[in-house]
Amino acid sequence: MTVPVTTDVLIVGGGPAGALLGCLLARRGIEVLVVEKQQGLERDFRGETLAAPSAVTLRRLGFGPALTEHGYLETTSVTMRMEGRQVLRVDYDKFPVGVLPIDIPQPALIGIFNDAAAELPGYTYLSGTAFNSLIEEGGQVRGAVLKLADGSRAEVRCRLLVGADGRFSKVRKSAGISADVQPMQRDFLSFKLPRPADWGNGAELVVSRDKHLVVLPTFPDFLRVGTNLPKRGLGDLRKEGFGAFRDSLAAIDPRLAPLLKEHLLSWDDTSFLEIFTAEVAQWSRDGLVLIGDASHTCTPILGQGVNLAIQDAVCLVPVIAAALAAPGQDGVVPAAAFAEFTASRRKHKAFVTRFQRLQESALAQRTPLRTALRRLRYRTLNSLPAKYRIFDKVINAPHPIDPVDLRAAEPAPASA
Ligand SMILES: Cc1cc2nc3c(=O)[nH]c(=O)nc-3n(C[C@H](O)[C@H](O)[C@H](O)COP(=O)(O)OP(=O)(O)OC[C@H]3O[C@@H](n4cnc5c(N)ncnc54)[C@H](O)[C@@H]3O)c2cc1C
Repeated sequence: MTVPVTTDVLIVGGGPAGALLGCLLARRGIEVLVVEKQQGLERDFRGETLAAPSAVTLRRLGFGPALTEHGYLETTSVTMRMEGRQVLRVDYDKFPVGVLPIDIPQPALIGIFNDAAAELPGYTYLSGTAFNSLIEEGGQVRGAVLKLADGSRAEVRCRLLVGADGRFSKVRKSAGISADVQPMQRDFLSFKLPRPADWGNGAELVVSRDKHLVVLPTFPDFLRVGTNLPKRGLGDLRKEGFGAFRDSLAAIDPRLAPLLKEHLLSWDDTSFLEIFTAEVAQWSRDGLVLIGDASHTCTPILGQGVNLAIQDAVCLVPVIAAALAAPGQDGVVPAAAFAEFTASRRKHKAFVTRFQRLQESALAQRTPLRTALRRLRYRTLNSLPAKYRIFDKVINAPHPIDPVDLRAAEPAPASA
């Protein structure tokens, strides 16, 4: 495919944030180029959970039939067990949102966005194409130098460059925007196991002192399992041997022992995730805006990364459309256009991060006294009449999307 020399919007990164934004902008007739450094969509062990509000948003945007055609798993509940005792259970059908969270592989979700965009006029997607550096003039971002799949370079000029290139964003670094990166106390190792037929569709958090397993039923027939490990502790863990690691998992949740023995065979079956949060004080410059993990990396607790990315994209569409219609100097979208967007999305992210930090600190407790107090706290929470109100706020975190904007982002009816 030939590389356009100019475009209205250049999106760097075709993850959930960039792919959805590209599709929704193209639906509005905006000229958009999405560049993704990977050739294919395969991404193992990424966020696969869509909280109920995101599932609602995607259906309202017209992606319901494609989601159904691919298939997904509806998660029914989350249960917490600590030191062998159930301390909390939340049933997702008791929330006012009225739909269940869904689990769908990230490549499938991105593929749905890309397929919906592929035929739209003005939309171009380049895989195997990496952002290399910014083109800047007079303090404004005017485009990017890209490295193409064949190793050659190309310059693309744009009125707005969107950095949707994830937690280690090169766009962010190139723009001189600093991030306050705060490592969490522990990192994370994930793997998949086949899901026994009688397992059910409930998510579980199984905690034993300061070790835990997150066990998530995953489409089509897997369990996605994650466990915590000490910060930079993977080397030490490996020295103790794979057998010892596997035994330690079975000790946390003995129900998994036979599956672990049969299906978790080496470190190659696991995937490491360094856990940190990143707060980015500045999300935009003239000609540039950051979204998704590039502007706010959170932890995997409660699976909010993809939701935040989706909501960023949906909220940004009307902002970009309005800004392109009323451009600043030389047609470049000014940083000020994103002030309201940034303030509202930052508030949402801060809320999620605050809860994730509280949860992480509770999970890190190890002494008998502190773990007993922790069980008591979760049991008390479980018995509170306000339990569903509290969890609704956390799991179905505020959804700042105006339905009017959503309708505007939907595809035009065939007769239009
Ligand atoms: C191992 C792992 C496990 C995770 N587990 C969970 C989970 O269980 N639940 C959850 O909600 N979230 C999870 N997350 C986080 C979740 O995947 C992210 O929050 C979400 O994908 C963010 O979407 P995004 O589009 O902002 O960024 P990303 O999904 O990171 O997408 C960024 C895209 O940009 C591309 N890119 C990067 N650099 C360049 C470049 N120079 N040029 C062109 N393209 C580039 C990348 O290839 C990638 O496709 C996990 C993340 C990881 C890494």
